[in-house]
Amino acid sequence: MAVEIEFKTGVKLRSAHGLPHVWRMLEVAAETAENLANDTMVVTEGYRDARHPDDAHTWCLAFDLRIHNIQLEGSLARYNAAWAWVKRMRAVHQDPRYQFVVHGEGANAHIHMEFDPR
Ligand SMILES: [Zn+2]
Repeated sequence: MAVEIEFKTGVKLRSAHGLPHVWRMLEVAAETAENLANDTMVVTEGYRDARHPDDAHTWCLAFDLRIHNIQLEGSLARYNAAWAWVKRMRAVHQDPRYQFVVHGEGANAHIHMEFDPR
């Protein structure tokens, strides 16, 4: 069952996020999500000013996904579930240009996903 997609307050999108190869990241994430509270996937970052010279968020090629709403007990279980979610997304995309990482400390831990055509 696909989940609803919610954008955290303050998340900025630009029209380029609607390009099919970019929006596809959200479709696949929603199709492969499991155990999310309220069956809702929360996007916590879209566009932002560059934090480093290679920031895919600034190119409208990246999204961050909340993982602390995965309904499992303990941050390690949620972290492991996040990587399992990444594996499911990779299996659907079958395309190494779609890249994922689970990173950030504590409550800031999240999935970063981007389309890197290089
Ligand atoms: Zn990110």
